Amino acid sequence: MPKIAHVIVDVPTMQTDQPFTYLIPNDMEEAIEVGVRVDVPFGNGNRRIQGFVVDIESKQEIDNLKPIKAVLDLHPVVNDELLLLAEEMAKTTFSFKITCLQTMLPSVMRSTYKKWLVSVGDIPPHIEEEVFLGLAERDWEEIKDTPYLSELHRLRQEGAVDVRYEVTTKNKVKTMKVVQTNLPKETLQDIQSHIRKNAHQKHKLLDFFISEQTGEFSVKELVEHHDLSRQVIKEAVELGWLVQEEREVYRDPYKDRLFQQDDALVLNEEQQVALDAVSQSVSAHQNDVFLLEGITGSGKTEVYLQAISHVLEEGKTAIMLVPEISLTPQTVTRFKRRFGDKVAVLHSGLSQGEKYDEWRKIERKEAQVVVGARSAVFAPLENIGLIIIDEEHETSYKQDESPRYHARNLAIWRGDYHKCPVLLGSATPSLESRARAQKNVYQLLTLTKRASDNAILPTVSIVDMRAELKQGVTGSFSTPLLHELTERLEKKEQSVLMLNRRGYSSFMMCRDCGYVLPCPNCDISLTLHMDTKSMKCHYCGHEESIPQCCPICDSKKIRYYGTGTQKIEEELQQLLPEAKILRMDVDTTRKKGSHERLLQQFGAQEADILLGTQMIAKGLDFPNVTLVGVLNADTALNLPDFRSSERTFQLLTQVSGRAGRGDKLGKVLIQTFNPEHYAITLAKNQHYEAFYHHEMNLRRQGKYPPYYYTVQLVVSHEEEIQAAKKMHEIAKKIQSALSPQAIILGPTPKPMARMNRRYFYQTVVKYRFEENLNQVLQEILQESQKDIRSGLRVSIDMEPQHFI
Ligand code: ADP
Ligand code: ZN
Ligand code: ZN
Repeated sequence: MPKIAHVIVDVPTMQTDQPFTYLIPNDMEEAIEVGVRVDVPFGNGNRRIQGFVVDIESKQEIDNLKPIKAVLDLHPVVNDELLLLAEEMAKTTFSFKITCLQTMLPSVMRSTYKKWLVSVGDIPPHIEEEVFLGLAERDWEEIKDTPYLSELHRLRQEGAVDVRYEVTTKNKVKTMKVVQTNLPKETLQDIQSHIRKNAHQKHKLLDFFISEQTGEFSVKELVEHHDLSRQVIKEAVELGWLVQEEREVYRDPYKDRLFQQDDALVLNEEQQVALDAVSQSVSAHQNDVFLLEGITGSGKTEVYLQAISHVLEEGKTAIMLVPEISLTPQTVTRFKRRFGDKVAVLHSGLSQGEKYDEWRKIERKEAQVVVGARSAVFAPLENIGLIIIDEEHETSYKQDESPRYHARNLAIWRGDYHKCPVLLGSATPSLESRARAQKNVYQLLTLTKRASDNAILPTVSIVDMRAELKQGVTGSFSTPLLHELTERLEKKEQSVLMLNRRGYSSFMMCRDCGYVLPCPNCDISLTLHMDTKSMKCHYCGHEESIPQCCPICDSKKIRYYGTGTQKIEEELQQLLPEAKILRMDVDTTRKKGSHERLLQQFGAQEADILLGTQMIAKGLDFPNVTLVGVLNADTALNLPDFRSSERTFQLLTQVSGRAGRGDKLGKVLIQTFNPEHYAITLAKNQHYEAFYHHEMNLRRQGKYPPYYYTVQLVVSHEEEIQAAKKMHEIAKKIQSALSPQAIILGPTPKPMARMNRRYFYQTVVKYRFEENLNQVLQEILQESQKDIRSGLRVSIDMEPQHFI
């Protein structure tokens, strides 16, 4: 009986969001399994695209099905579990199945399409010469701008030229050439006695293989370290002295590093209680969700490590998610030391090839522990015994483009599937998670003390910048902070300074007319970058040179406003000329590996002060740091986002945790213009529970999460009026479908109303129980497909993390 495959094709539209059926040609029956990617014809003409096989069935009758053209994988790249997860993700995030499937795989596995123009019949000589250049086919990209397009179109209708599509994947396996000899020593000696004296290379090669009889040698090594030429190796292979093979190799980003094995620490009582609860759940195959609330330095990571050990002892596997930004060499080292080669690491600092190789290691069951950022939640592990999410409050766990999934929700889904627990950890849990623990949906575990005997919480003081201003301090550094910094320099201790960049940037203004240089594409001022000497837009990437004079009034009195890290660095260097300062921000960490290098330098005490943005707040563990200064604690407090207090509290608690990790007492100074704000005073004492209760009250009054769910709808178009009109239509439709208890905010233009030359309008719905919501949102998504041609785009974001 003929077999057919159900295929999800790479066309992200609503109409194509269901499987299409294709005939499986006889010679492919063996190769095609559920979960492999295939190359299939699609639509009219001979367009070819990639698709995922999601089902196979035998059919008596097949009416005119197109056959699959090629198989792109040797093994399935998504297993049954991940296929189901993709379905779930598509449904809950209002996105397309194909986008979800592609999101699960390393980016090198995304297909690229190529289009070729082929000459198949009689074509006029000028086309032959100008377009085909005497060749049989040309890359479409190279000819699409020639003036012959309409002529080519006509020739295609006449059947003289055709278009050929090609689907390729870039996931290349890296190989290396190895050689060895199968001849006995005596034979080699015999050969050697018959060759010319002056064939030096051959003698050298034979000497080598006579003395090193056994084993494989990489050609590269022989050339680089044993002074043999590629030519002589090639000849030796041709003469049958050596046999050559290709060996697959992994690009291991950690291959040159030796990790010293370390052993489990003896846990304190609180840690033990937490570990026991999790281990029991692992052994009993329970899909519990635990919330481990532990102050910074309380030994959460040690609990994670020991829980994973327990999982491995039971022959199962584990995923450990950490925020991208805290996936520092220090974190990786801790895992590599405990679990060695069992660990695969996935993060954005790896090259595409390295990522693909780590992924294959997981897929082939050579790694049992996966440590990685958000997308590691898709790690193709089987038999999962535990999923851990560290710093579970981090917003980076939610992807801010389609599919807008939250790694926490998917982790819990996988926990259900594998009947295994999920462990969420944080010093400052999200209010959503903490509230779930309150209601016993999650089980709360707490660590209240710092784990290391001699590490105690640092003393935190707040510096009132309003008072400083009254005393005539106009710069970025208060008198107390400068005093402390000077003292650290004298004692040869290190300091960390953080500039809170959220909601804030350095721009350029004309002092005569007040003109601020805007981005031509977006409603935002351009940011000054001293290292590239240019003005840049942080949203669309637009870049232009720094103006010498005002483009409006020609005045030369141009001033830079705001305090970028570069400006702060200059200011600080003037105040403390002898201090060695390291700056860490988006500009100094753009190059691969530079983040690690800066941290290593600071760890090796090559600098006195580490000055940086948010990215320094996490994961650093330097014993010699005894002072942490926060230059501007409150910039984020003024953002029109109901989570701005929560974010400020989290950030301040995190940075404070950086001081006094070793045996020296730490001090934290927080500069602020809002010294009485509860987010700041409670962070000072690391009073998470008090903050939680205070904030919950406000959320209840304001009808915000976790009391209400939220969904944000955004419509965009190049013309403002079109975006506004559509948004109003949608809002009306929602209103009529929901109960009077649902609260609809908007439609309003987004605060960043224009981005990349498009206008954005939004509506936010707050609700508790709405039976019809899913249905109406699906309808809106379906209908929006009709408007795609007119340039309208609609997106739906469940539980948006950035509210403004
Ligand atoms: P967290 O992840 O909560 O910030 P860590 O696990 O990084 O905490 O622990 C902070 C420090 O305390 C680390 O240096 C760690 O080695 C140490 N530590 C953790 N648990 C113990 C323990 N039971 N006994 C002694 N030291 C510990
Ligand atoms: Zn001007
Ligand atoms: Zn822009």
